[in-house]
Amino acid sequence: MNQCFFCGPTTRPLTEEHVWPKWVSKLLRGKYGSDHFVHIRSTGNDTTGYWKSPHLQVTTESLCDECNNVWLGNFENLVIKPIATPLILGGETLIRPADQWQIAAWAYKMAMLLEIAMPAEERHQEFYKPTERRQFRNETIPDEHVRVFLANCQYGQEPAHAHQHLHTLRRRDDGFSCQLKICTATAGCLGMQIIAARSTETGQLVYASTEVEMELLGKAKRAIVPIWPPTNEGVRWPPAEGMTQQDIEDWTEMWSKAEGMYPQPPDSAA
Ligand SMILES: [Zn+2]
Repeated sequence: MNQCFFCGPTTRPLTEEHVWPKWVSKLLRGKYGSDHFVHIRSTGNDTTGYWKSPHLQVTTESLCDECNNVWLGNFENLVIKPIATPLILGGETLIRPADQWQIAAWAYKMAMLLEIAMPAEERHQEFYKPTERRQFRNETIPDEHVRVFLANCQYGQEPAHAHQHLHTLRRRDDGFSCQLKICTATAGCLGMQIIAARSTETGQLVYASTEVEMELLGKAKRAIVPIWPPTNEGVRWPPAEGMTQQDIEDWTEMWSKAEGMYPQPPDSAA
């Protein structure tokens, strides 16, 4: 029996899934001064991988052929490609509420897959649970507690980029503690951030705004657009301000300073 990352135990063969679909590579190839992509993987200050390829070659061989070629293949090629193309290329557009659902689902897929799209020895325990992946497989929408934000990256930086951070935070006044998982992924001019909080006590996802007070700071107020949980308003694109590479890195760090919450080393129990 194989274990599909999304649908679970299966007799189907496992296939290679690209975290960034190949059409993203086609959109970006040649636009950043090169006809191939240079990949650098790092943990902290250590570079753990370096490779070149004509595609964004970040993959995992953990999806059954049905999930990969039918479910995600159709979703990414038929639904996401027309909505995301102008965002990736930096065009002006209006992102309708219905499209925000789809982009948020795509961002959520990336957050889940980025956890396993690296060599086993460099992986941490996955943050998202098999039940949550299965639910995503069934519904193709993010969990209602997750938050998804978009930003417009300035051209001429890196074609694609991903960061993942896991913080354990604890509130001093009532002892509430949670794990905060922050994933930032970019594709051309499109930046996506997925934030999920998990209660240490119950193990359930909690909404990362009532449980964890967060606010957008400084430039983020004008540069970052929330799209999930759903809004009922269209988003004029691009936002008033774009993000530099440094802004994108600061963006990922920003939430570690959630108000009233303090970082806690993983082993210091309550
Ligand atoms: Zn599957």
